[in-house]
Amino acid sequence: MKSTYNLQQLEAPESLELRVYAQIRQAIMQGQLQPGERLVLDRLATSLGVSRVPVTQALKRLETQGFVSNTRRGETVVVELSAADAFELYTLRIRLQPLAARYAAPRIQPEQLAEMENLAEWIAPLSGAERFAMDRRFHEALANASGMPRLAQMCGNLWELTEVYRAALDTQVHDLNLKIMDNENSSREHDALLAALRQKDGVAAEAIERAHVVRATKLVFQVIGQSFPIPASEIDDLR
Ligand SMILES: [Zn+2]
Repeated sequence: MKSTYNLQQLEAPESLELRVYAQIRQAIMQGQLQPGERLVLDRLATSLGVSRVPVTQALKRLETQGFVSNTRRGETVVVELSAADAFELYTLRIRLQPLAARYAAPRIQPEQLAEMENLAEWIAPLSGAERFAMDRRFHEALANASGMPRLAQMCGNLWELTEVYRAALDTQVHDLNLKIMDNENSSREHDALLAALRQKDGVAAEAIERAHVVRATKLVFQVIGQSFPIPASEIDDLR
C-alpha cells in the first residue's frame, strides 16, 4: 500500500476523483462489476472509503466513456455490450486508423518511428490489460505521426469508447490458445506496419493497419456473441 505516499494527492479533489474513477473502471474491466449490474452511489462511496462527491464525478466520466449508463429510473448500471454501438465505433476505427497510417508513412519522423519500434518490442511479450494499454500507445503514436491532429484526436476518442470492448476480450475470452494466437498475429502485424513505415509506403501501411483493426473487430464481435454485421463482400473489400 502506498497510502502515506499518496496522502498529499488525496487532499486535491480532482486527483481523488481520478483515483475513484480508475478504481471503478478497473473493477469493470476485470469483471468484478458485471455488465448490467446496478451501481449504488452510497455503497460505492462506503466501499471506497470516500464521500459521494468524487464517486458522482467518477461515474459521470465513466458514462462519457461508455462504461456505465443511466437508466430511465435514474439508476446507474454497468453497460451491457451493445453490438450496434460496437458496429458504429469499429466501423469508424476501420476507416480512420488506416487513414492515419496512410498519412503517417511519408511524414513520420525518425524519433516517432523509434518510439513505435520500442513500443512494439515492449508489447510483444505482454498480454491482457497491460498489452491493451501499450497497444493503444502504439496506435496513438501512429495517429500522431499522421500530422493530422484532428484525425489523431478522433482516433483517440474512438479508442476511449472501445476500451470497454477490449476489456471484454480480456475478461470473457478464456481460450488461452485464442489469446496467444491473437497476440502473435497482432505483433506480426505491428512488425509489418513498422516495415511499411520505414519504407514510407503509405498504401501498404494503410492496408496493414486496416487488416489489424478488422481482425480485432471480428474478435470483439465473436466475444459479444454477434456475427460481424457487415456484408461478406465488404469485409473482403476491407482486408
Ligand atoms: Zn495493435
